[in-house]
Amino acid sequence: MLKRKSVNTVAIVLLLALAGLNFVITVPYSTYAAVLFIWLSLTVLGSFFVQWNYHLKSYHSNKAINENWVSITFDDGPNREITPKILEILKKNGAKATFFCVGKYMEKYPDLTNRIIEEGHTLGNHTYSHPEAFGFFGTSKVVEELRKTKSLIKELTDSDTNLYRPAFGVTNPNIEKAVKQLELKPIGWNVRSLDTTSRPVKTVLRRITSKVSKGDIILLHDTSEKTIKVLERLLVFLQEKNLRSVTVEQLLDIDSHA
Ligand SMILES: [Zn+2]
Repeated sequence: MLKRKSVNTVAIVLLLALAGLNFVITVPYSTYAAVLFIWLSLTVLGSFFVQWNYHLKSYHSNKAINENWVSITFDDGPNREITPKILEILKKNGAKATFFCVGKYMEKYPDLTNRIIEEGHTLGNHTYSHPEAFGFFGTSKVVEELRKTKSLIKELTDSDTNLYRPAFGVTNPNIEKAVKQLELKPIGWNVRSLDTTSRPVKTVLRRITSKVSKGDIILLHDTSEKTIKVLERLLVFLQEKNLRSVTVEQLLDIDSHA
């Protein structure tokens, strides 16, 4: 897969080669522009597709496991209306999940935050305020967002975590530095449900069921009624396929404690 460092090196070498060639023949400006355009396109795409591991290596699945396990993950909660319903459904089905929570909502709903842990699920870091401009933050601001939520989890639940789900799935050199500084483990996904879009329940469910198999990490959000309906049907589907949802650290066989 493409990596930022090798793409940057190739772009610099190409530009220098073109500049050298310019002493022999006239290289049109459009050639330089084409190299820069390709470099920029790869950088932007690599920042948005966490699965590329372009800036930062994340965990996206564990296809090597023998057990019939998958991991359902929920981002952007806890949510006062939705998270309790999600927890009920998970309990009824004996399923475990991972909740990548936003710090400011954990502060607002400490009981829900604790309930997630008490019911055997895993809590992960999903920034403090999930700012829209997160991808443009400098390293110190990214560190602040992640450190605040890390401390909150410790303070509220008396347990710690090194699991981080990139907000908007965005990674870049500043996020890479912050993640390394705080020794976090970035957790991506390989089955994206698109449950936050206007797509109907059936379509969202089909997106998951058409590709899910053992070792997969499924991305959902505990922020809408639609996801509740999707989850209910998804758990029935998984049961029929003899698949069980476990927490990401169990699926990935990693230590989630900081
Ligand atoms: Zn999010």
